[in-house]
Amino acid sequence: MKRMGFETALIHAGQEADRRTGSVTVPVYQTSTYKQDGVGRDRGWEYSRTGNPTRKALEDCVAALEGVRHGLAFASGLAAETAVVGGLLKKGDHVVAGDDLYGGTYRLFEKVFRKWGLEITYADSGSPAAFRRAMRRNTRLVWAETPTNPLLNITDIAAVAEIAHKGRALLAVDNTFATPYFQRPVGLGADIVVHSSTKYLGGHSDVIGGLLAIKDKAVFEEVKFHQNAAGAVPGPWDAWLTLRGIKTLAVRMKAHEANAFEIAEALSRHPAVSKVYYPGLKDHPAHALAGAQMDGYGGMVSFELKGGRPAAEKFLKKLKIFTLAESLGGVESLACYPAAMTHAAIPEKDRLARGITAGLVRLSAGIESTEDLLKDLHRALNQIQRG
Ligand SMILES: *Cc1c(COP(=O)(O)O)cnc(C)c1O
Repeated sequence: MKRMGFETALIHAGQEADRRTGSVTVPVYQTSTYKQDGVGRDRGWEYSRTGNPTRKALEDCVAALEGVRHGLAFASGLAAETAVVGGLLKKGDHVVAGDDLYGGTYRLFEKVFRKWGLEITYADSGSPAAFRRAMRRNTRLVWAETPTNPLLNITDIAAVAEIAHKGRALLAVDNTFATPYFQRPVGLGADIVVHSSTKYLGGHSDVIGGLLAIKDKAVFEEVKFHQNAAGAVPGPWDAWLTLRGIKTLAVRMKAHEANAFEIAEALSRHPAVSKVYYPGLKDHPAHALAGAQMDGYGGMVSFELKGGRPAAEKFLKKLKIFTLAESLGGVESLACYPAAMTHAAIPEKDRLARGITAGLVRLSAGIESTEDLLKDLHRALNQIQRG
């Protein structure tokens, strides 16, 4: 099937009925190895670190969703990031990265890649000019996360792609927050799309995983070599759970976004809240850019409470439907306190400089009843005011 619609690709890309049995759902090939018909005569599968049919279905599916030929699946989002850097860069190479990143990505860059001899410069996520200034002769990779976690900053993908390519560097975009339903970075010039499929793609808070979609065959081959050589692959059950989650991505993303909009507006009107970060709001500094490069604004909302950490702790304790937990993108609504949870790996000084303050709360709007979610937030907000 060529050029199928996005909703069709979610359900069918890479997932033809099983040739032998007709099984409509891709089987879980729970095997580590494959019988060979003679020495050197395998049937296309040798060993499940190298390749597994369930994983291949997932890899083909993410490639189709991002509009490229090549996909790769990993044991986690960070394993996927490690394969990009490990597969493509060497000691002495330079990376330019946006300065508002998932805390685990920042930790990987700072505590692991620097030890390997990589040079890294951070640029203001919202400023293509800052990316341009950070470029050096040895810059091989530009890394952008957009929208960013947790502050929902927007990076201009087309502008940064041009800057990267002018410097003969590749652009990787972490598309975890938007998903291909709302944003397809390759169409805007990116070379590699990165996902933590733990989040919206899996969508049910039951599996850890990472995915890459890669435009160029030679780049793909280098990263695939690393995938097999280092071996951070997902098992077939994890691949299967992720495929199953992806089937409903379109209906879920619509519902996540509808709830996020209502939540962002309700928070903006509440006196206990001093600031709301949601790219769908007209007063978001990159509202127009988000509208131009995305098909929607997503399901994540961050906000700042007046009264710092004590107010945040009280608020989080009073929530009943929102669950206090790390992660995001599942059907259930979650609340998180970035300064002590997802972004604790960033030194306090750097955190504050980026706007990750003591009053900041991040919400992942689930797909429960909008009314129940709003009531839950209002009740918790009203109680902190009462002291
Ligand atoms: C969670 C997350 C990651 C890391 O993915 P894991 O699956 O937890 O390894 C990377 N980027 C973003 C934006 C994330 O939210």
